[in-house]
Amino acid sequence: MANVTRDFFIGLSNNKFLNDQAKKWGFRLGAEKFVAGTNIDSVTNVVKELNNCGISCTIDNLGEYISDKSEAIAAKQDLIKILEKIHKEKLDCHISVKLTLLGLDINQSFCMENTKEVLDAAKEYNIFVNFDMEDYSHYEQTMAVLRHFKETYPQIGTVIQSYLYRAADDLEGLQETRIRLVKGAYKEAESVAYQSKQEINRNFIELAKGRLLGEAFTSIATHDHNIINELKTFIEENKIDNSKFEFQMLYGFRTEMQHELAKAGYPFCTYIPFGTDWFAYFMRRLAERPQNINLVMKDVFYT
Ligand code: FAD
Repeated sequence: MANVTRDFFIGLSNNKFLNDQAKKWGFRLGAEKFVAGTNIDSVTNVVKELNNCGISCTIDNLGEYISDKSEAIAAKQDLIKILEKIHKEKLDCHISVKLTLLGLDINQSFCMENTKEVLDAAKEYNIFVNFDMEDYSHYEQTMAVLRHFKETYPQIGTVIQSYLYRAADDLEGLQETRIRLVKGAYKEAESVAYQSKQEINRNFIELAKGRLLGEAFTSIATHDHNIINELKTFIEENKIDNSKFEFQMLYGFRTEMQHELAKAGYPFCTYIPFGTDWFAYFMRRLAERPQNINLVMKDVFYT
């Protein structure tokens, strides 16, 4: 049953018609709990509040699978404005970018040109840029863009998904790169990805421990308290320095736990999406945690 519900919401997240319509609706279905407004000011106000609580942030300007060049160019311009704002207001914040927002589906060289402009601005302001990992059909291309820019822009990193069989092998080649480790949010074939929660969790823990003992910085991105507790013990036992890692969670999820971890002295970063293109992001969150459907019901029936 859980898999059927998951597949249903993943299916909705990929529905182009609904994604296009949702941009016109404004926030619906309770999405505002997980998306920090539609403009740069609304998201940076949230960043300031979290920074005041000792929490660092990463901003995601929502949007993906762009097929229109002018939309990709507008997205690039927005990202540059966000970087300027982060710099000007001295925010403790970096950005997370989906390469299909910058035109990866249009063609790779067009996406590279847009990405380069964003990376130039980020370099000027010394701000880290994370390439979010999308579904498996974009995996090789995302890695290729990362490899292409890595030498010139050391302040970039990407995401490794523990549901992929290849995750451990790929991490071998990324020992000097900042990585966000996640379980993986898309529906992938059995030929490339573990399907059971136990295997995905076991792999996540193994990969996280390996990274923590290595050199490069790792963002441990999960809301799973069992995994977090096991890794906290591992960090203490192995005297892993705070400069080597952070915990990351999504805005609006387990907010109390986010503050508790930060108060307990763990480096913590909240991933904050904003913008009008909220539908696919929100459907993936429902796929992960169908309990959030309660929010949808409340929104539909009480507002
Ligand atoms: P789950 O397996 O969803 O949950 C494990 C257990 O934790 C649950 O059974 C429950 O007991 C508890 N739990 C979880 N959520 C809650 C809650 N809200 N309240 C109470 N208990 C809860 N995926 C990608 O594919 N690419 C990316 O680039 C990417 N970036 C991400 C960035 C961040 C910061 C985060 C946190 C996730 C990102 N993801 C990304 C999504 C990720 O892959 C998972 O799909 C998502 O995080 C759900 O998995 P989980 O590890 O949180 O735990």
